[in-house]
Amino acid sequence: ADMEEFESRLKGKTLPEAVEKRFNEELQKFSVLESGSPEYAVTRNYLDWVSQLPWGLMSTDKLDLKKARKVLDKDHDGLDDVKDRILEFLAVGAFKGEINGSIILLVGPPGVGKTSIGKSIAQCLERPFYRFSVGGMRDEAEIKGHRRTYIGAMPGKLVQALKEAEVMNPVIMLDEIDKMGASYQGDPASALLETLDPEQNVNFLDHYLDLRLDLSKVLFVCTANTLDSIPGPLLDRMDVIHLSGYLAEEKHAIAKHHLWPKQLDKAGVKRSQLKITDAALKRVVLDYCREAGVRSLDKTLSKLVRKSVVKLLSDPEQKLSIGLKQLPELLGPAKFRQEQLMQGVGIVTGLAWTSMGGATLPVEANVVHRQSRGLKLTGQLGDVMKESAELAFSYISSNLERYGADAKSFDKAFVHLHVPEGATPKDGPSAGITMSTALLSLALGKAPKKNLAMTGEITLNGHVLAVGGIREKLISAKRQNITEVILPEECRPDFEELPEYVHDGLTIHFASHFDQVVKWAF
Ligand code: ATP
Ligand code: MG
Repeated sequence: ADMEEFESRLKGKTLPEAVEKRFNEELQKFSVLESGSPEYAVTRNYLDWVSQLPWGLMSTDKLDLKKARKVLDKDHDGLDDVKDRILEFLAVGAFKGEINGSIILLVGPPGVGKTSIGKSIAQCLERPFYRFSVGGMRDEAEIKGHRRTYIGAMPGKLVQALKEAEVMNPVIMLDEIDKMGASYQGDPASALLETLDPEQNVNFLDHYLDLRLDLSKVLFVCTANTLDSIPGPLLDRMDVIHLSGYLAEEKHAIAKHHLWPKQLDKAGVKRSQLKITDAALKRVVLDYCREAGVRSLDKTLSKLVRKSVVKLLSDPEQKLSIGLKQLPELLGPAKFRQEQLMQGVGIVTGLAWTSMGGATLPVEANVVHRQSRGLKLTGQLGDVMKESAELAFSYISSNLERYGADAKSFDKAFVHLHVPEGATPKDGPSAGITMSTALLSLALGKAPKKNLAMTGEITLNGHVLAVGGIREKLISAKRQNITEVILPEECRPDFEELPEYVHDGLTIHFASHFDQVVKWAF
């Protein structure tokens, strides 16, 4: 009976010649095996897998750009540049008549909508969607399967995906490709390269099936928090789309149009039963969640709904409304206050960037005593950042007169440079001009301009060099009420590619030498 089942599953499918041959051989073998023998079970399992794969079955793409725009708009507020990129991508596909051989990489901080955008791409095309995480994956067998001789052997994730999707051209999302591990069981990164590379994946070999499959029709969408740890050859093959963090107003809109209604639906609460005022929603965004994405915002809203459901239970007829007054009662005291920027002599606001998004990073400098000359650094600075601080100290010490300070300011001065918060590790050269400005401010005894922030590497001759993460940095600057930003001249091309809303309201200066920084900073 099993045999008939296996054969009937293949009806309407087109098996490649080699697969058909292999399948028939195994089926032949299976027919003569004793049902109790271990090999019976192994062969049965194998036939089960092979017969369930969607050989030759394809989903036809619906390349209707108007509809695609609608699908993307329905689930996502904002993200206009991201949507445009995806529509361009689909348009190219519509022009060629097929979407093949491309890999999309969505990169950005947690909770900004990468997974959700990926799902929408599948919906636009009306292709099945399958997602798995390669984060923490250490064994290449998870991608390529175990050999059949291995006890409990299974095909790899890609074969599992095809079986689930029931077509050979689904959208497969590989989550967290920047967090892939490596171990003695082989290198999953190279297995992944083999999987994604259009030249190699026409003949993808799964160890369990021991058959070649054509993965070239799959549309791969990968997600990552940073590009740093992605192997170069892999990155070269991808279309990279950046998602940056959201501004407070954007989060408010997302919460109002998407997250809040979804939370109500989840809890089975009618919209008329539970309302939240705009003012309260804004407060939640500003005082209870501070992150680049919206994940903790979503969790906080879920908490509000849960607490309200308890009240609704006692009297289902009542109508509740959450306003400003109810927030402390429901959520506790505010977790964040709009931070006052630290300002004053020796204090400068830098802009930093991590895989979690952008952040403002104040730098403080002070003279501890005047018995000896020295520099002390604190704030969990990495090696590169420490060197950068020493560089800043050398540069400023040797150019004091040039900038109108007493040439002897630091001759007998033990200077302490601190970058709060003390417990957060920081590294990289991008605070070079910030630390230099803090030191100069100290020597001049003059505070830098208010609401000013800066980022840029400095050289021993005062040249200002390019740094990364401009977009994230500008967004975090706006979150903190910064109005003026100094960037390296070398970053101008990156800057000009940014959408308007990322920097409107900010005055931007581009510096190629520290002389210019000084002019704008004081
Ligand atoms: P991670 O890196 O942690 O996997 P992610 O970028 O994949 O994060 P998602 O899971 O896609 O984040 O998004 C988190 C939640 O926020 C989802 O419920 C998603 O629908 C919602 N969301 C994110 N951005 C938007 C947006 N622009 N409009 C509407 N909803 C959004
Ligand atoms: Mg995700």
